[in-house]
Amino acid sequence: MVFEELAVRLNDKGYKNWLKAGHCLRILKEGLHVFTNTEMRAFHGDLLGQHAILRRPCQSSSCTAGSTRNKPSSVCAVCSEWRTVILRHHRQPNITVNWDNCRPSSWLHDHWEVAKAYMPRGQFRVAGADQCDASALLNLINHCDRFSSVDPKLVREVIRCRNELMHSCELRVEDEWMRHYQASLKMLLQRFNHVAEVASAAKRIQEMLVADWSVCVSRLDRVDAAHVDGLQTTDQWETGADLISQWEVELLQETLQELLHDTEAQHTEGLVRLKDFLQANRDLGEQFSAEIQALHSLGARGQGHQRTEEDEDQTI
Ligand SMILES: [Zn+2]
Repeated sequence: MVFEELAVRLNDKGYKNWLKAGHCLRILKEGLHVFTNTEMRAFHGDLLGQHAILRRPCQSSSCTAGSTRNKPSSVCAVCSEWRTVILRHHRQPNITVNWDNCRPSSWLHDHWEVAKAYMPRGQFRVAGADQCDASALLNLINHCDRFSSVDPKLVREVIRCRNELMHSCELRVEDEWMRHYQASLKMLLQRFNHVAEVASAAKRIQEMLVADWSVCVSRLDRVDAAHVDGLQTTDQWETGADLISQWEVELLQETLQELLHDTEAQHTEGLVRLKDFLQANRDLGEQFSAEIQALHSLGARGQGHQRTEEDEDQTI
């Protein structure tokens, strides 16, 4: 049976919760990206209407991202004004803005280059709302005063849950955590129930969270009897399992990338556990063989790094 190992994993309630919660973030992103894109286009239009200088093109070819982080003097007068205006619309004015997400010379023509100033690091290559994950879009809502009608506490609670989920070393969450997560999502999304895409996403999220995937799993035990029940039973499970398997691979991939690229936190333990988990499951081990190999090399380097840190501790 192709999905036999997936069925075994779904028997673990905590893992099934983790998988469902992670997939809800995908649905959330799908619900939010059209709305945030429309709002940021309007926000950009308002800024151009209010500030004549912003309607002028960038005056320097050196106004590129990366090297300009936290160095306001290294951009031209027009881009400098853009920075001032972007900061003025920040809901937390004292926060460090990730200017290296943006191409300042594109601020005149591309509203999403402005939006990225309100997002976490690592957005430089992202060209539009549809390429952003839920975290990026939630941070935009949390940071840009275009969304000042949304209570920041509600957004931050969902961001906090999202970070706990994606940094969970165990790859599992308890039922109680799920209840809180469901309530937090519901309270936030209720603020957007006038937006069709978000209302639809909210409905799908609630359906996802109450869906009983174990029904699919139990059908595996009846595989021998499938010819009696008719092929439809097996086919239904195959279809369901195929989708769940696809979501699982996407979420594991995303978790891996997050643990690897979040340079602000040390996720060595999470990476080791994820590698062990992938190896322990033959189907996932095959799909992620290249990543497991890369993690092995990283682990070897990590051990070297750890020794250095211990040495430093001893010196202190
Ligand atoms: Zn410029």
